[in-house]
Amino acid sequence: MNKLDTALVASSLQNAGFRLTDDVKEADAVLINTCSVREHAEERVFSHLGHLKHLKEHRPAMVVGVIGCMAQRLGDKLLEHEAVNIVCGPAQIPQIADLLCEAFARVQKRLAVTDNIRQGGQEGGALERFESAYSIEEMPGQAFVRVMRGCNYFCTYCIVPYVRGPEACRPPEAILEQVRKLADTGVKQVTLLGQTVNSYKYRSEEKTWCLADLLERTAGVQGIEWVRFVTSYPCDAFYDEILQAMAGSARICHYLHMPAQSGSDRILRAMNRHYTAEHYIELIERARAVVPDIAVAGDFIVGFPGETQEDFEATVSLVQRARYKNSYVFKYSPRPGTTSERRLADTVPADIKQQRNIDLLAVQDRISAELNQAFLNQQVTILVEGPSKKQVRRADCEMRSKSPPDSQSWPPTFPANVQLVGRTSTDHIVVFDGPLSLAGSFARVRVTQTSPLTLFGDLQP
Ligand code: SAH
Ligand code: SF4
Repeated sequence: MNKLDTALVASSLQNAGFRLTDDVKEADAVLINTCSVREHAEERVFSHLGHLKHLKEHRPAMVVGVIGCMAQRLGDKLLEHEAVNIVCGPAQIPQIADLLCEAFARVQKRLAVTDNIRQGGQEGGALERFESAYSIEEMPGQAFVRVMRGCNYFCTYCIVPYVRGPEACRPPEAILEQVRKLADTGVKQVTLLGQTVNSYKYRSEEKTWCLADLLERTAGVQGIEWVRFVTSYPCDAFYDEILQAMAGSARICHYLHMPAQSGSDRILRAMNRHYTAEHYIELIERARAVVPDIAVAGDFIVGFPGETQEDFEATVSLVQRARYKNSYVFKYSPRPGTTSERRLADTVPADIKQQRNIDLLAVQDRISAELNQAFLNQQVTILVEGPSKKQVRRADCEMRSKSPPDSQSWPPTFPANVQLVGRTSTDHIVVFDGPLSLAGSFARVRVTQTSPLTLFGDLQP
């Protein structure tokens, strides 16, 4: 979601006449789009601001803006940091070009706009215009499309409802119009985004739309080959409709990202998650009954206040039963103002959180390794993203050793065949050698080797 916001802001600034640069040293303005979900993310922003403060000692005219969730959470307080000129919350990003102009003109040297977090209603109108005016490719041939803003769930640990406001669903016509525009520019895969995307609901005159309707209509847009959606909240509402839509269309990717957070019912209750471990497993079994090759990914928080070894073992057991493709594991981070931060002491010591994080990932790794082995010697269809990270690093190093690192020599040039990366419909990452021109198109690869996180293979003619 933040990647999408960054792309929207970058493209709106370009439309307003600004030019983008990768080099902070030549920038007249630097914007940092921020995340507040864990403390670590915020610490990194302060470290960037520290560097910018030093840069500004030599270049006092440089304008620095903090946008996104941390801007919303800290508001005016961020202006106390010497480096910061602009603070702009998520509901106000349509104003960003004007804010920059104001800051350059020194009408007001320091300004903060975070007074409203509602992303529906009036602000929703401005956001809707802002969002639908741009068609942004995230990677060659791929784009994100937001279908809803905010969240109504209030899980006790989570800052999102406080900084992104209540749930507001975008009108289906606006979403489909945007998908059509993206398809016209060559986009083949769209990912529909929402914090709890499966609760998408929109009452139009004609009917009430749910995510399954949106998936089917998006998959029907000329030029769109694959549709994904993230993230799903584990609940029954609209669930069977979504699974049926997946089973009924090869264009709706067989992938479900459905965070469980914990396998202990006691902890799930304390987190205000509205399901039990049994119910969660039943949802996964239902998915596999309707879509047998579906790949499921999960999120977990370890070290939530009061989490005992027994609670943690219940989480390990859930991971073993769920047989996820992969899991994202986070150490509990108390977020100021959330219910768990206000009411529950952060009792699990840092070293135990760390150990549980390592142990849970090790359990997941064994499952991922086993599941991936089933791909050996199989042919898979992938959408090619571009050069692998290793390839980009290699090209970057070669470039830097041959010529002085100036912005003229970016992007680096690549040899005829490079190491490429792509993903299957089930979100499995595939690494193989091929021409760079494949980026953004579909390819067939025969899998010759597997690891827990990656399939390696040969490009098929
Ligand atoms: N809307 C999504 C998740 C948004 S946040 C959902 O409900 O699934 C992404 C992930 O960050 C969450 O799934 C959770 O695992 C993690 N997370 C959120 N708040 C956290 C906190 N305070 N400490 C540690 N991890 C957290
Ligand atoms: Fe946060 Fe829970 Fe909403 Fe996800 S569902 S964004 S974890 S409050």
